[in-house]
Amino acid sequence: MDSIFNYKLEELEDFFESIGEKKFKARQIFEWIYKKHIYDFYEMSNISKTLQEKLNNTFSTNLLTIKTKQSSKLTNKYLFELEDGNLIEAVLMRHDYGNSICVSSQVGCNMGCTFCESGRLKKVRNLSAADIVRQIIMIQEDIDERIDSIVVMGIGEPFDNYDNVMKMVRIVNSPYGIEIGARHITISTSGLIPMIEKYANEDLQTNLAISLHAPNDELRSKLMPVNRAYPLKDLMKAIKSYIDKTNRRVTIEYLLLKDVNDTEECAIELSKLLKGLNVYVNLIPYNETSHIEYKTSPNKNVMKFYDLLKKNKINVTVRMKFGDEIDAACGQLRANEVNKL
Ligand code: SAH
Ligand code: SF4
Repeated sequence: MDSIFNYKLEELEDFFESIGEKKFKARQIFEWIYKKHIYDFYEMSNISKTLQEKLNNTFSTNLLTIKTKQSSKLTNKYLFELEDGNLIEAVLMRHDYGNSICVSSQVGCNMGCTFCESGRLKKVRNLSAADIVRQIIMIQEDIDERIDSIVVMGIGEPFDNYDNVMKMVRIVNSPYGIEIGARHITISTSGLIPMIEKYANEDLQTNLAISLHAPNDELRSKLMPVNRAYPLKDLMKAIKSYIDKTNRRVTIEYLLLKDVNDTEECAIELSKLLKGLNVYVNLIPYNETSHIEYKTSPNKNVMKFYDLLKKNKINVTVRMKFGDEIDAACGQLRANEVNKL
């Protein structure tokens, strides 16, 4: 049975029309689910008994199971179990500007970045739109607070699951849905160029983040095998044309790995690469994982890197270290769990 959380408003309208019902019923269902948080068709009082029964026989309303949850002052980290037993993670981060959730887009990831726990566990399957929507719903239910923004930066490469991720965006962005503003939704990619081009042509105000992590091909290919298929020169071209087309500022994520990509030379090379582009760089402190060859960059390297970018007039911030005491890098909880098996 297909999950109700897989349906965009228009698709649900089509469904109602196809069974000879008025299409405004779709809006009512959306409001019950996403506004009133009622997930049982039989509790939807403005729906007739026969229609309740029909809906109940047509759509599943299963949520996810919370397998483990770890909380610290500013973060909650969830390990969810899907119906088929697969495990995915999502993280709640409490910022001063609101609650943000980092969601997973796949079970595992095939991109094979050498520093990443998610990449160590090969892709098992894509998540459906419903699987992603339900990560948000579960956390919303758990904390009983509004979710203000979403970043697709958990396990998986969202642009390797483009259609489902975009469907999720339309569902949560709907005014009858969770109603998370497009400007508060960010998708992070390791750099799948054809999908960046496609994303530029969506009529949406959502944001793009690029995991760059290195300022030249040699280093980037070592860290991110995807760079061999989509080298930096082409990636930079794609980013530039995305910015030209959308007029939106792009986030460049740069993970700092001690003595690997955190040197002064790298900072200068990165500044040159990004010069004049409407981007801002987010320097991410590395969370050490079982990839023992990589170490967190010491603070003095981080600050020097930051200063060099600033000096070269590149917009830059250092990501706040969130919940480092609780396996905060997405993929780590699941990796721990899977390794135990
Ligand atoms: N696949 C997409 C989105 C998921 S990864 C992408 O690569 O952009 C989200 C971000 O987490 C990426 O920038 C990734 O480089 C980063 N990341 C992976 N492992 C990490 C770790 N151990 N510590 C900190 N960030 C990490
Ligand atoms: Fe996949 Fe992103 Fe991890 Fe690379 S960093 S392996 S693309 S999840």
